[in-house]
Amino acid sequence: MNYYSLNKKAPNTTFKNAVIKGLAPDKGLYFPESITPLPEDFFKNIDNLSNIEIAFAAIKQFVSPEIPEDVLKTIVEETLSFDFPVIQLNENVSTLELFHGPTMAFKDVGARFMARCLGYFNKDNTNEVTVLVATSGDTGGAVANGFLGVKGVNVVILYPSGKVSDIQEKQLTTLGQNITALEVDGVFDDCQDMVKRAFLDEELTSKMQLTSANSINVARWLPQLFYFMFAYKQLHNSHKNIVFSVPSGNFGNICAGMMAQQLGLPIRKFIASNNKNNVVTNYLKTEEYTPKPSIQTISNAMDVGNPSNFIRIQEIYKNNFADLKDNLSSFSFSDEETKEALAHIYKTYNYVADPHGAVGYLGCKEYLKKNKDVHCVFLETAHSTKFLDVVEEVIKEKQPLPEQIQEVMYKTKVATKIGSYNELKSYLLNN
Ligand SMILES: *Cc1c(COP(=O)(O)O)cnc(C)c1O
Repeated sequence: MNYYSLNKKAPNTTFKNAVIKGLAPDKGLYFPESITPLPEDFFKNIDNLSNIEIAFAAIKQFVSPEIPEDVLKTIVEETLSFDFPVIQLNENVSTLELFHGPTMAFKDVGARFMARCLGYFNKDNTNEVTVLVATSGDTGGAVANGFLGVKGVNVVILYPSGKVSDIQEKQLTTLGQNITALEVDGVFDDCQDMVKRAFLDEELTSKMQLTSANSINVARWLPQLFYFMFAYKQLHNSHKNIVFSVPSGNFGNICAGMMAQQLGLPIRKFIASNNKNNVVTNYLKTEEYTPKPSIQTISNAMDVGNPSNFIRIQEIYKNNFADLKDNLSSFSFSDEETKEALAHIYKTYNYVADPHGAVGYLGCKEYLKKNKDVHCVFLETAHSTKFLDVVEEVIKEKQPLPEQIQEVMYKTKVATKIGSYNELKSYLLNN
């Protein structure tokens, strides 16, 4: 598959190149040249397919021929070595649990897939690649874990000081080896801006091969379409008219869901559930897209003021506002509402959600007020113990720490503080 730049001022390129470069030379995000729907039979027979078979069939067109089929099979198997269960809360609402991977957030899948693609592309190469990534919380841990020990790849993670949870910080600062953490005096948008600036800095890019592992990278973004198929497989026999409520920040996950729909997955509608960082909610109301500085909330992985993947969503709907609105609703919720939802879900269903999942649940509830004939699946994008402070305060009970989390809690944080782009640059040039 070849990819074009959404800024349309750079040559089309291969999957391999798109992964290694991250962003096109004209600063545009890459998008696949074509999307061929899967045969109808695929969805009819989905009960007979394993997760690995589903994922392999769904992603193949986007990565071939550069990733040969036998290699792809191994990559998919290694990426998906855990479960993606759907838990039904009531007749109209289920949750899709995406937190059973090593860092307990959904980003494990994209990070593991991308790390393995890059490892394959780099196998005979003596030139090192530096993965530069900004995180609002979970990306850092997932990327650190996914890329740990991958030959020829160094990972540099930028995170906003004091604005990620303790567990998230431990996950991205304690691994060592080829993983380095930079603690930025600023908010997530500052981290993201520095990363974007580095990619455009010719002095840097002439000296090193930089790539990104944010959802702007096609190998991080596209595998997220698997989740929606796994949920469909579990639900389609008992429920028609499935809608997904996706707690959204950079809009990579929901945009991948829309790609699954383009492949033919029968999804009735998407709901972008936002915290108070609500550029997209406002856009759907007013047709005006106005990025804003990000606001800190208790669902911090969604504290994004200018979602980088929204332009891909525009492309899917060919910039047609009416078509987009047909397929996408969006609601925004405050921290207070999120906490109330957490408490309510616990009291009513004895289910412990995390703040992001709770925002997704609220999106379902809001949508169901006017649409009774659907089954709404909200994505539980992280495990509740990753946000221990908030969750324990709200449900007023101690939470046991899962094994994956215990492992990192007692390790020592190693991070270098930086405050400006120039400090990032000199760090990259001198290390
Ligand atoms: C990253 C993240 C999100 C937001 O996902 P996007 O693809 O950026 O929209 C939501 N919840 C959690 C827990 C996350 O880590």
